[in-house]
Amino acid sequence: MLWPYTRRSAREEPERSSIWDCRRVPTRARWAPADVEGVIRPDSRTWRSVAAAGTLNKWQPVAVIPDGLAPPPTELDGRVVVAGELRSLEGRLHFDVDRRRVHADVSALIGVSSPGWPAWDLRQPLGRSPFAHVDLGGGPGAEMRLLDRPLEPGDLYRLDLSYGIDAPLVADPLPIAWGEGTVGFDVWCSDLAPGRYLEQWLPVGLCQDCFSLSLEVEITGAKEPHAVIANGQIDGEWRIRWPDHHTSLSSLLMIAPASSLVSGEAGPVRLTAEASLGIDPVEEAERAAAYLEAYSSLLGPYRHGSRFLAHLWGSTRGMEYDGAASASVKALEHEVFHSWFGRGVKPATASDGWIDEAITSAGGLYRRRPAVRRSGLAHERRRRLRRVGGLRGSIRLD
Ligand SMILES: [Zn+2]
Repeated sequence: MLWPYTRRSAREEPERSSIWDCRRVPTRARWAPADVEGVIRPDSRTWRSVAAAGTLNKWQPVAVIPDGLAPPPTELDGRVVVAGELRSLEGRLHFDVDRRRVHADVSALIGVSSPGWPAWDLRQPLGRSPFAHVDLGGGPGAEMRLLDRPLEPGDLYRLDLSYGIDAPLVADPLPIAWGEGTVGFDVWCSDLAPGRYLEQWLPVGLCQDCFSLSLEVEITGAKEPHAVIANGQIDGEWRIRWPDHHTSLSSLLMIAPASSLVSGEAGPVRLTAEASLGIDPVEEAERAAAYLEAYSSLLGPYRHGSRFLAHLWGSTRGMEYDGAASASVKALEHEVFHSWFGRGVKPATASDGWIDEAITSAGGLYRRRPAVRRSGLAHERRRRLRRVGGLRGSIRLD
């Protein structure tokens, strides 16, 4: 989950991390990554060899799984626009601390369920690429990009992109945090504005689309060790793999100087916090574990594997991910509750986030019910649950 960054060498490479084994939360038919691994690109190039601002290459035909949650096709200037279906996304993010630049080389395998021009999104500038944003009816801020050609169902296509990364073109963006020999990065997802999921940084489709994600994160020029926080499987320095049931609102990735963090564990909880908060990370991890236990007894099993990843920060903001959350101290319980509503049962579309938000905001009432008192929590844990009860105040909840 949390690995110090050192320069690359076989001798210094950390041991393989423990697997972040999120269990599958079915939202549609399974697509097996093995279907792609056997595919050979006709021109023998790899994704690393393509450096154009945007290229689309037809790929070997593979069956596409229909996505029942996709919106119906719409028409734009005589073109039938359909929801693009992302099957897998892999690539590399390079953080050049000396030059204060981030560069992405990514390769997306995409398809469609019905013939048309696939819509997708990426809130980073692509220069004079053919993939300009267009309004598909979502209004200002909710524009999406179209591929430069229509696709037929039954085929998969590989989209290779190479582009620089900076603050995304969205409402309330979070810039890359450059310091003297350091860098800070956070996917900073939010339900509160269009384009605030992974499309801020990576080419993805709509938020109901499930896809596997694999990123190599490299930092050069850093003057001190850095750490990566992610709810995926982290190998070495650092290849991070997120499971294929994740969507664009599932995956957490943060990078920070290791010296700026403290960490603690309790039961299934792996918690990090900004060191400047001055909190006891073990105590906070115990508090999160108590919430998990209480809500598991009330709502049913926790469905994100054997781990819950939490990061506490000074911001009043908070955000839920699959089996993970970034939150203020006050909002920790709220974000844990989202493991059932929001990231257990997911919103069907980007406009449906209010439903799980309403349920989660009201969900704190559960802990005052007799069922919680019967849940077998230790006295100290119950005390902490009560203590947090009156602190909602001005928290801005995502
Ligand atoms: Zn929320």
